Amino acid sequence: MSDLANIDSVILSLQLPDAIDMHSLLARVEAVYGKKLQLTPVSGKGWGKTTGLWVDTVEVGFILYRTCDPVLYQQHSICHELGHILLRHTGCTVLNEKSAKNLFQSIGRKRGMASLLARGNDRNIQEIEAETLAFKLAEKLHPPYSDSSIDEVFGL
Ligand SMILES: [Zn+2]
Repeated sequence: MSDLANIDSVILSLQLPDAIDMHSLLARVEAVYGKKLQLTPVSGKGWGKTTGLWVDTVEVGFILYRTCDPVLYQQHSICHELGHILLRHTGCTVLNEKSAKNLFQSIGRKRGMASLLARGNDRNIQEIEAETLAFKLAEKLHPPYSDSSIDEVFGL
């Protein structure tokens, strides 16, 4: 069962403002993660349905995303991987060994890898949780207009 209460507490613990940019969001996640995060754009060739990937190494976490996707989709894929990090997920749920090997050639390293998670079409608890958290982070990156200003809009 998905633990939505845990997702809400993770969001609260980040003490995010109503609106935040990706750079500041990464800094907050790095503080929780305890390591630097490096956004790594890749072509996505050979990725199939995988749209994002988190590679956890001893010193740094790489978040790979596809440059062939629209920018908003790229940001959502990044947020999905941030969700896995914040929820302290481990293990690979999407990639098989061959796919992982191909993807690692994209970033030119394989040693020191602690774990690897990817955003794809698999649906399991960890994927649902990461996706739910990604939407909550996206709300901060792209906040909706406040409806409290309707009086101002119509000059009431
Ligand atoms: Zn995932």
